[in-house]
Amino acid sequence: MQRIETHAFIQEFPKLAAQPVDAAGQLVYTQFIDGEFTPAAGERLPTVDPVSGEQWATIARGTRDDVDAAVRAAQRAFEGGEWAAMNPSQRGAVLRRIGDLVTEHAEWLAHVEQRDNGKLSAELSMQMRYMANYYYYYGGLADKIEGTVVPTDKAGVFNYTVYEPLGVVACITPWNSPLPLASMKIAPGLAAGNTVVLKPSEFTSASLLELMKLFQLAGVPKGVVNVVTGLGAEVGEALVGHPLVARIAFTGGPEAGQRINEQAARHMKRVTLELGGKSPNIVFEDADLDNALKGAVAGIFAASGQTCVAGSRLLLQESIHDEFLARLVEIAKNVRFGHPADPDTQVAPISTEPQLRKVESYVAIAKEDGARLVAGGQRAEVPDCPKGLFFQPTIFADVNNRMRIAQEEVFGPILSVIKFKDEAEAIAIANDIEFGLAAGVWTESMPRALRMAGKVRAGTVWINNYRSTSVTSPFGGFKMSGVGRECGIAGMREYMEIKSVWLSMETNIPNPFVRR
Ligand code: NAD
Repeated sequence: MQRIETHAFIQEFPKLAAQPVDAAGQLVYTQFIDGEFTPAAGERLPTVDPVSGEQWATIARGTRDDVDAAVRAAQRAFEGGEWAAMNPSQRGAVLRRIGDLVTEHAEWLAHVEQRDNGKLSAELSMQMRYMANYYYYYGGLADKIEGTVVPTDKAGVFNYTVYEPLGVVACITPWNSPLPLASMKIAPGLAAGNTVVLKPSEFTSASLLELMKLFQLAGVPKGVVNVVTGLGAEVGEALVGHPLVARIAFTGGPEAGQRINEQAARHMKRVTLELGGKSPNIVFEDADLDNALKGAVAGIFAASGQTCVAGSRLLLQESIHDEFLARLVEIAKNVRFGHPADPDTQVAPISTEPQLRKVESYVAIAKEDGARLVAGGQRAEVPDCPKGLFFQPTIFADVNNRMRIAQEEVFGPILSVIKFKDEAEAIAIANDIEFGLAAGVWTESMPRALRMAGKVRAGTVWINNYRSTSVTSPFGGFKMSGVGRECGIAGMREYMEIKSVWLSMETNIPNPFVRR
């Protein structure tokens, strides 16, 4: 992926409608409701490029009325019309067409996403190409969710089950991987026959609105997918509280997740909550230490630590602690910062200014609590991108697991290193946390690896690797890391209700006063 002017790229991209530009030369993004990009009206919010530090676009600050219009359009599309009339195989075909278009436009989507959140091209190119698989996988699964004929213990009746869609699904997403996290929800939601209203992060809405151009090309009927942009406290809350929304699929921080769960509970709305983590990455003395070192780097410094599965607590066995830490510090001090589009760049900027300030605040907290700073700890100057929001890979040693830096999610490149004696202590430390999203285990002993995988309380356990995921494998959290699962067949069932149907095979109904 080359370094090019995204602004021009968006405008000149073949086949797709050019994006309007305002008097200041910035792209003007509007909402996508009932199959149309709405006219630009009302207040607007800035969209800033974290690499140049400059505003390059504006998005609409959506209102309660916009949410209502989008949800009603989605409800209409769910109840009648082209989408409602499609059988599951036809829905699958629409999804596969989206998959083809995503494949064809992967580089273009990567450019827009990079302008929004500053991620490395190397990772984005891969992510955008892979994203097509969400549409292919769930397109294929659309007509394969079978009910059952249930062998009941009641005579004279026949019982079967069917899976049905829920209705309008609200999808609320964060800024770190906007398009993949949205696609992870849109694809199973549509495959199941629902309709969707999306609310992307206010920091990174442009890429999803560009994706909607591909949905138009794919022939997705109007109202089936809608995008309302704006703030969490306004658009997000209005969506969650809307009476016609049947399910909420949320990825984001624990605070917003808790609030959404409380609001949803009042109306018994179904929820999937993919929240944060403080995942342990556990290295035993019998590990392949070269690989474990790469695993530690992948765990916390890839994507500048802005991943929900960040291995932000590195647990090192006593005997290897000092040497392993010294090698890791050496790597952290010598990473290559740079423009995320340059292939040699290893560390890209933090995606937003508020997030950068949060990262800085946790350095101060860790120092105050007595952790020992052994690498990084401040903003990085990058001559190529003087206004970029870069932060040095940061390592704290002598961390006690009860310190805030070990217990709270930072969502940045800050690693807490914790020493342990044996397996029992490693498990105790790993599980002494309110989160349970993921864990890494590094050992050459398979019996130990299996014991650890069984005892760690986390939705994903990686043995001798870190950050592997697949659309085919369920993903989600234990404890405060969330509710429900995304991906895999389990991910699609989240978007369906199971119905049990009873047919009488008798000619005369027996005594109506007695339950059969
Ligand atoms: P956030 O919770 O601040 O915002 C996420 C989204 O929710 C945004 O669109 C925001 O506008 C909206 N929102 C905020 N408050 C809301 C409310 N009260 N009602 C409805 N919507 C609301 O999170 P963020 O800063 O954008 O993203 C970082 C967080 O996302 C981290 O905690 C990270 O761990 C988490 N995350 C989790 C996963 C996962 O799969 N588990 C993946 C990526 C990111």
